[in-house]
Amino acid sequence: MLHYFDLAASLAICTIPRKAGLQNCAMGLSLCLMKKNIALLAAASSLLLIPSLAYAAPAPSNSEIIAALRDKALQADDVAYDIVEGLTTEIGPRQAGTEAEARARIWAVTKLKALGFDNVRIEEYKMPTWVRGAETAEITAPFKQKMAVAALGNSASTGDAGIDAEIVYFPTIDHLRAAQDGSLKGKIAFVSHNMKATQDGSSYGAFGPARFVGPNIAAKKGAAAIVIRSIGTDHHRNPHTGNTNFEPGVTPIPAGALSIPDAENLERMIARGKPVRMKLKLTPQNFGIQTSGNVLAEVTGSNTDLPIIVIACHLDSWDLGTGAIDDAAGCGIIGAAATHLKSMGQPKRTVRVLWAGAEEVGIWGGRDYGEKHAREPHAFAMESDFGAGKIWAVDFNLPESASALRAQITAALAPLGVAPRKEAAGGGADVGAIIAAQKLGVIDMQQDGTKYFDLHHTPDDTLDKIDKAELRQNVAAWIATLAYVANFEGELKPSSPQ
Ligand SMILES: [Zn+2]
Repeated sequence: MLHYFDLAASLAICTIPRKAGLQNCAMGLSLCLMKKNIALLAAASSLLLIPSLAYAAPAPSNSEIIAALRDKALQADDVAYDIVEGLTTEIGPRQAGTEAEARARIWAVTKLKALGFDNVRIEEYKMPTWVRGAETAEITAPFKQKMAVAALGNSASTGDAGIDAEIVYFPTIDHLRAAQDGSLKGKIAFVSHNMKATQDGSSYGAFGPARFVGPNIAAKKGAAAIVIRSIGTDHHRNPHTGNTNFEPGVTPIPAGALSIPDAENLERMIARGKPVRMKLKLTPQNFGIQTSGNVLAEVTGSNTDLPIIVIACHLDSWDLGTGAIDDAAGCGIIGAAATHLKSMGQPKRTVRVLWAGAEEVGIWGGRDYGEKHAREPHAFAMESDFGAGKIWAVDFNLPESASALRAQITAALAPLGVAPRKEAAGGGADVGAIIAAQKLGVIDMQQDGTKYFDLHHTPDDTLDKIDKAELRQNVAAWIATLAYVANFEGELKPSSPQ
């Protein structure tokens, strides 16, 4: 079956090269001619009423095989959902450094072996491990009532007795930054913000610092504790957890996130003008250095002289939900795409699947991979870690010499409603270290993140939030891209001499 988009794409490759260089046409010419011939034959047979059976069917082209794989994944992929369903059902929360994360690694090895991958293995590393304890927040004056709170990763403990202190309100992180040193002594800082949902998730970068650095700033200014408005966009009474970090030399303070309805309630209380007091109890513990690990699996390429491709997700999750969108979905998407790649036969390049550990608490797995594999030649990386929302755009960071590859991928993604953008692809957290070490080529699939921060790091991150059709669209886009890249023998690193 000849797809309209493939024909259009191949014709485009034929018409562009007058400006862009003959090598593009050389790659596409035979395909173009073949497709034109098919079109002419089809037209002739219908005009002259020649039975089509009189002609032997030509062998399908590479682009037709890839289009068929893409369309099959879009309609019927079950591999990705099976991975998300299995991981959330049989393991559930899998916080970094805990025995649950260790069980997830064993589960992953079994699953990847069952899917037929080569060299399935665990690479362990050590990391500090923090786990939550009891957590309660109550306004004690002037309007006594309880609030929903969750400790942030690396929070200190209040002790069992808790802290009862006056709230000092900061509408934004910048207001906290501007507070005088020592002015928060004995107080609980409360930092709010005005995060709104964005399709590309960019509001996480804009408003996330309330969590990322707010506790460190409050600690340096002498605060006894800090609570923030959860970094999220929902209005459920669910706090959003997540990591925070204290600089060396700064003594950690208790740090919690209030659910968004509770944070808004607290703002209304503060607006009444009377001093507001909170009793905060958070009793997390540091368990010291524990074992975590990455799970690796491969589709072995036919030409082992070619640098490899690494595709990543993260296996760990926060502990409040079951980590369906963050990031079982990503492991499902890349696991399914690599599984379908095998159905084309052996790719030219080896594709390594990296289900990284301990991303949420400091990208320990991604950094360990970057160190252990720094000397192993890689060419290209991709990552899936933004839920299971539909892919709407694609970004590239490839050399100019790979413009024909880029055109093929763009054409293969167009039927999925995915448009190319001009932004340079940057990769993700778990492939960040290896990209930086080897200056790899990258393609980013931009998923629709409009609803992502309704669920992110909350008890609501569960399997029922996965839309099967959108998950399949992700797999379809990934297999179309991966099939072209894994069979491309030219240079993929953008910085290489042209
Ligand atoms: Zn994640």
